[in-house]
Amino acid sequence: MDFETLKAKDHQYVMQTYNRFDIAIDHGQGATLYGLDGKEYIDFSSGIGVNSLGYGNEAWVAAIVEQAVKLGHISNLFYSQPYVDLAETLTQRAGMSNVFFANSGAEANEGMIKLARKYSFDKYGKGRGTIITLKNSFHGRTITTLSATGQDVFHNYFFPFNDGFRYADATLDGVEAVAGHDVCAVMLELVQGEGGVFPMDRGFIHDLAVLCAERDWLLLIDEVQTGVGRTGTLFAYQQYGVLPDAVSFAKGIAGGLPFGGVMANEKCREVLTPGTHATTFGGNPVCAAAAKAVLDTLDDTVLAQIQEKGDYLRDAIDSMDLPCLGWTRGLGLMVGIQVRGGFENRDLAARLMDAGLLVLTAGNNVLRLLPPLLITQEELHKGLKIMKDTLEGVGA
Ligand SMILES: *Cc1c(COP(=O)(O)O)cnc(C)c1O
Repeated sequence: MDFETLKAKDHQYVMQTYNRFDIAIDHGQGATLYGLDGKEYIDFSSGIGVNSLGYGNEAWVAAIVEQAVKLGHISNLFYSQPYVDLAETLTQRAGMSNVFFANSGAEANEGMIKLARKYSFDKYGKGRGTIITLKNSFHGRTITTLSATGQDVFHNYFFPFNDGFRYADATLDGVEAVAGHDVCAVMLELVQGEGGVFPMDRGFIHDLAVLCAERDWLLLIDEVQTGVGRTGTLFAYQQYGVLPDAVSFAKGIAGGLPFGGVMANEKCREVLTPGTHATTFGGNPVCAAAAKAVLDTLDDTVLAQIQEKGDYLRDAIDSMDLPCLGWTRGLGLMVGIQVRGGFENRDLAARLMDAGLLVLTAGNNVLRLLPPLLITQEELHKGLKIMKDTLEGVGA
């Protein structure tokens, strides 16, 4: 099918909820993607932080094929080995106690919110269901996770939204200012992704963990974007020196298949009891096998390389000194570049894509880079060269 026909059929048969770029992707290898017309793109986006091992990774493909041939799905009424193997590896490496498997980030966060409210209900009864989230956060697109998201632009059209969330500035005073007897938890991203790649201050996170312990509030960390190696440790909290009461993950976990979940620490391991939470596809054997292949690939050597590649990427962009780009920030291969006033992130992204480099945008006029975690030096060089050549002339 040619591109114009494909586009026309999309507009006719698919709900137009996405502002797509004028490109159709056909296939990929490593961190390189190929358009329908054969055009080559270096991928600094990983399908929004999903394709952690890049495209066509052999171990990942083999794990999926082998499991699909053996058993493609089985309900949660039965035991099966793939999700058990994954649960063991994941919880041990995360320092957590147990896990509930789901299918997406929003669903993982729904589970985490339910866990926090039930923890509090079991111990204190009704009236303590409020969760503090941060301004500029993003937690998902279901009604409840939209309600949890601390950005007004997301609180539109779909009224009524849910009560039970209060939005704080990302400081201890900010959190104290919205505290109350009705609070059971604080939920946050350690690097706000959709909001514009803002890493949290380490002192704030340390003090917040202490405050949560004092008040018996659960510390809930949304690692849907930061998790599974993205920041150079398996989870970002491992760099912040805190252990969450619960942590959600999704995006990169299965390297491209829909998967996610929520892990609980020892204090919260028994909160979600039989009948209180479920999902039909949760722990699907093919997704679990893919996720195991991702985790086995992300060993200590690869995680250290993610840190190095992230530092290299930021240094290289800083030293380009482009007129349209300001300061860079982030952790590991989660990089934000502040677009300067007078320039538009979406316009710059479109120019880069035209030139053969796929990048993402984020809130607050930011360009966001989430390359596949296994991207090679050669692919990084190619991408950076396209960035320099394309943006050098812009606005000069
Ligand atoms: C993407 C994202 C979500 C939502 O994940 P979906 O899989 O799209 O439901 C939630 N939280 C954070 C931090 C995210 O980046």
